[in-house]
Amino acid sequence: MAKEFVKDITAMDEDFAQWYTDVVTKADLIDYSSVRGSMIIRPYGFALWDNIKNEVDRRIKETGHENVYMPLFIPESLLQKEKDHVEGFAPEVAWVTHGGSEELAERLVVRPTSEVLFCEHYKNIIHSYRDLPKLYNQWANVVRWEKTTRPFLRTLEFLWQEGHTAHATDEDAMEETIKMLNVYADVLENTLAIPVVKGEKTEKEKFAGAKHTFTVESLMHDGKALQSGTSHHFGTGFAEAFGIQYTDKDGKLQYVHQTSWGFTTRVIGALIMVHGDDRGLVIPPKAAPTQVMIVPIAQHKEGVLDFAYDLKNSLGKVARVDIDASDKKPGWKFNEYEMKGIPVRLEVGPKDIENKQVVLVRRDTLEKIVVSMDQLEEKLVALLEEIQSNLYNKALKHREERTSVATTLAELKESLEAKPGFIKAMWCGELACEEKIKEDTSATSRCIPFEQEKVSDKCVCCGKDADQMVYWAKAY
Ligand SMILES: [Zn+2]
Repeated sequence: MAKEFVKDITAMDEDFAQWYTDVVTKADLIDYSSVRGSMIIRPYGFALWDNIKNEVDRRIKETGHENVYMPLFIPESLLQKEKDHVEGFAPEVAWVTHGGSEELAERLVVRPTSEVLFCEHYKNIIHSYRDLPKLYNQWANVVRWEKTTRPFLRTLEFLWQEGHTAHATDEDAMEETIKMLNVYADVLENTLAIPVVKGEKTEKEKFAGAKHTFTVESLMHDGKALQSGTSHHFGTGFAEAFGIQYTDKDGKLQYVHQTSWGFTTRVIGALIMVHGDDRGLVIPPKAAPTQVMIVPIAQHKEGVLDFAYDLKNSLGKVARVDIDASDKKPGWKFNEYEMKGIPVRLEVGPKDIENKQVVLVRRDTLEKIVVSMDQLEEKLVALLEEIQSNLYNKALKHREERTSVATTLAELKESLEAKPGFIKAMWCGELACEEKIKEDTSATSRCIPFEQEKVSDKCVCCGKDADQMVYWAKAY
């Protein structure tokens, strides 16, 4: 790999954390703001988020949900209503104590999540079984006062969608919870080319106030896991705390069964750390703001620019195409768009025009392909699809290579050091074992996967009988 082209980016194997920081800033995804732990999402980063957001939003609407908007502030008394919920969030909320120079009679919380606001609203609008289900979603920013922060992965303020639904029965709520988990898995696997493990969180790791939390977990290049989307089944806990009741068909008063589910700008961090390489970002075509960047060669020569712009117009019908006709050198442009992870570069110069051809360069493999003009459209569409599936397969292969089995704590520890990644191990279900594993290895339980395997009969920690297989990993 031509190291001299990527002077600005630290090599991944040298320092993965620094590589990540270099990529997010040098590829123009973000800038830092003067508020600690906050980030400015720049146009390129926001275009990427917009694409992801559109894919999620489309699926949310296709599954029958409606978008709404809740206020930014939550009165303290409202947050206090559900005990587990407030305990879970209290350490990381930001408080508003003054309006102008006047101290507020009641402090306000800047929303860390909007459960309680939805609950307050649902109490007002749900009365009869005819009002159910309520399938609401909001796109918003939330604030969590995190101690250590990293762009996209953990920031004081982040963007997300939060779905909040209310149902007549427990079965309906459970069906919704799993349906939305599958929506997240679909976006991650098919748009972002990130393979996921679907499963349930342990009691310790579940959401504050939830009965069940389901998660999609993905594995980064460095072998750490990232929780990439969660879906919660609340049962009637919130409904009881907030008094959300409806009259059923027999005229009896019942509590509603609720769910919530969220997908955040964190997935951009996942995309960077799953697909990126020493040259920078690698963006799967379906998520890429620009899928094809045209770089004219010897563009001062007569006809080159006209030809390049014609190509941009004609190919614009089948792909998201841009052109860099600035007076910067082609070598600079190659480097820049490789760093930005644009899936395909199209080079065209006087000789190509004469030979009725162009050169396509794949970002994922850096392979150069000469394509004749009469086949260009068709070949380009096929190439984008091939890059998409190649990235997915590569990520899946990496995850498989980085997934081990452990039957003792010593083995678990050894595997994590020798080959960081997912460790499959049996667990007895005791919190004490989960905590000991974390203390001894700094790995956390990622999920109890839906696809179970019996890798042993005994708990990896205490050696007692165990029938649940859990994925363990160090995580972001
Ligand atoms: Zn145990």
